[in-house]
Amino acid sequence: TREVHLVSRPHGWPEPTDFALVERELPAPGEGEVLVRNAFMSVDPYMRGRMNDVKSYVPPFGLNEAMTGGAIGEVVESRSPDLKQGDLVLHDLGWREHAVAPAKRFRAVRPVEGVSPSAYLGVLGMPGLTAYVGLLDVAGLKEGDTVFVSGAAGAVGSLVGQIARLRGAARVIGSAGSEEKVAYLTDRLGFDAAFDYKSGPVRKLLAEAAPDGIDVYFDNVGGDHLEAAIEAFNDHGRAAICGAISMYNATAPQPAPRNLPLIIGKRVTLQGFIVSDHSARFGDFVREVGGWLAEGRIEFDETVFEGVDHAVEAFLAMLRGRNTGKMIVRL
Ligand code: NDP
Repeated sequence: TREVHLVSRPHGWPEPTDFALVERELPAPGEGEVLVRNAFMSVDPYMRGRMNDVKSYVPPFGLNEAMTGGAIGEVVESRSPDLKQGDLVLHDLGWREHAVAPAKRFRAVRPVEGVSPSAYLGVLGMPGLTAYVGLLDVAGLKEGDTVFVSGAAGAVGSLVGQIARLRGAARVIGSAGSEEKVAYLTDRLGFDAAFDYKSGPVRKLLAEAAPDGIDVYFDNVGGDHLEAAIEAFNDHGRAAICGAISMYNATAPQPAPRNLPLIIGKRVTLQGFIVSDHSARFGDFVREVGGWLAEGRIEFDETVFEGVDHAVEAFLAMLRGRNTGKMIVRL
C-alpha cells in the first residue's frame, strides 16, 4: 500500500521534493481494529500550516511519517463489533490508500443516494460546517444583509454564498481568482455580483460591486481582501475570520490591516473561529444543508485528481487556485 510522507518542512511555497510517496507492507488489523480501503481523501489549506513546526490549534505533521487528513473509505476487514465489512467510514487517516486503526478512529456514515461519498469531505463535511457556522453563528447573518465572501469559488466560499442567499441575504458578492470562476459564481451559484481579484485593486472592485456597502464579510483570504472589506463595511459590520490563504506561504509576517482605525469608527466586529469548536451544530447543519442538497437548491462541484501518487500535485494545485469547489483526490 502507498502513503505520502512529509520529508522536509517547506519554507514559503511547498515543493514536490518536500514530500515522498512511500510503499509499505499493509499490516493486518489487530483485535479491535479495522482495515479501511480509502476511496477519497481531502487536501485542505490548513494542511499548509501543519507542515510548519510551530504551535497551533493542530499539532504539526511529523517528518518521515504519513500525513493525516480527511478521508472516506470502506471497511474491508473488521475485528471490532462496532464496524462491519462494507461500512462507509469518515476519518482523518488520509494521504494513504489504506488505513488500519482502532474502530473508534472511524465514524460510520450513511451513503446518500445519488451523491458521491466524497461529499462528506466537502459540502456535507468539515468545509460545509465551516461555511454554515461561520456565516450563521460567528458573523450572525441576518435577513437583508449584504454579504461579501472571498475565496468564493472554493469549497467553503461556494457554500457561504449559497447559504447566505437561501437564508435571506439581500445581496451576495464573491471574489475569486479568474474570469471563469467569476462567471461560475454568478451564472451557476446565483451570486448577485462577483469580481476577479487579480484584475485590479480589491478595494476598488469591491466598492463597485457593493455600492451600498457590506454588512457581513466572510474572510477566507486575509491581506488586501480584509482591508477592502473594512473599507466597505457599514456601521456594525461583522466579519467571520475563517482563513488567510493569501498569507499561508509568506516567509515574513504580513502587515495588519492598514486601515485598522476604521474598525473603531464603524464599530466593526472581527471574529476568528475554528470549525472544530462548533461540532455541536453538525446535526443542524446536515439537516438544513442536506435538505437543500436533496431538493437541488444547492450546487456543489469538485475538482478531482486521480491516485495517491497525484495527491501532492492536488494539494499544490489547490493552493494555486486550480480547483473550483472542493479539491478531492480519488484513491
Ligand atoms: P478552497 O477550496 O477555497 O481552495 C483554496 C482557494 O484559495 C483556491 O482555490 C484559490 O482560489 C484561493 N487562493 C489561493 N491563494 C489565494 C490568494 N493569494 N488570494 C486569494 N485567494 C487565494 O479551500 P477551502 O474552501 O477548503 O478553505 C477556504 C479557507 O477557509 C482557507 O483559508 C482555509 O484555511 C479556511 N478554513 C478555515 C477553517 C476554520 O475552522 N477556521 C476550516 C476550513 C477552512 P482563487 O482561484 O480564487 O485564487
